[in-house]
Amino acid sequence: MNIERVGVIGAGQMGTGIAHVLSLAGVDVMLEDVNGEALERATKTIARNMHRQAARGLIREEAIDPALRRIHISQGHLDDMRGRDLVIEAATEDEAVKRKIFQDLCPRLDSHTLLATNTSSISITRLASVTDRPEHFIGIHFMNPVPMMQLVEVIRGIATDDTTFQAALDIVRKVGKTAAYAEDFPAFIVNRILLPMINEAVYTLYEGVGSVDAIDTAMRLGANHPMGPLQLADFIGLDTCLSVMQVLYEGLADSKYRPCPLLVKYVEAGWLGQKTGRGFYDYRGETPVPTR
Ligand code: NAD
Repeated sequence: MNIERVGVIGAGQMGTGIAHVLSLAGVDVMLEDVNGEALERATKTIARNMHRQAARGLIREEAIDPALRRIHISQGHLDDMRGRDLVIEAATEDEAVKRKIFQDLCPRLDSHTLLATNTSSISITRLASVTDRPEHFIGIHFMNPVPMMQLVEVIRGIATDDTTFQAALDIVRKVGKTAAYAEDFPAFIVNRILLPMINEAVYTLYEGVGSVDAIDTAMRLGANHPMGPLQLADFIGLDTCLSVMQVLYEGLADSKYRPCPLLVKYVEAGWLGQKTGRGFYDYRGETPVPTR
């Protein structure tokens, strides 16, 4: 199946990046969000990031305008997803939100439209079950920041058919990325391994073993990680981190995945990391300042 017209639901960090790489690959994109400000931010971010890529010689400057023209935006009108070959859901990591989106979306879609979710952790099979096309439903899990990260996890639900799987692999190839196939278990591969490490870093902070700065410096210089785990948590979004830990904790019923109470507290405070200006670091000044 040739995928030429794609819908993206949710214009946050991930939806923005997904629209960016699809449009550069020649795909027509309909980017939808319930929040008008998110859409405004998304279009500005995409243009800015494309110009940055051109300045670094990663893409041609002449490719930018046609790519931007391929992106259309829609505020809260799921009807605009009619005629799409594939719709990728990249809304907030909350199962109730995602279920509602798929329930509202399905009656509006053409029969040939494939459905994908960019969820970091929620069961593909369970999300597929609320749709009218579980065989045409798949997980396509991009990494953040999408334009820079090479990997995409592809996750089949129990009902996903071969055509849908092949179409997902084709779209990953089309945007120039590499697919890793993961089975449908909580948080798949990358986050199953990465998020418990981040959660452990928050416990290390919570128990006073080290400060934010000491923990991040230790992991950057001691384990050769490009970013410290708390900086990475801020980058991912602390709400997303908490949500993934909750899915692991509940889905695998093992206390080793218990979300750190300090992570819960930051999320309760609305300190969600870079996207809200404050998390384990405060980003409101010139340079990020540790909050503990
Ligand atoms: P985000 O908070 O930056 O953006 C979520 C967007 O969804 C917001 O703009 C919000 O307005 C929108 N939204 C909420 N309800 C909606 C609805 N009913 N209809 C349309 N839009 C709606 O979150 P994000 O980091 O972009 O994450 C989005 C998805 O991608 C989540 O499932 C997350 O787990 C996954 N993901 C995140 C990362 C990461 O590092 N942040 C990496 C891979 C995958």
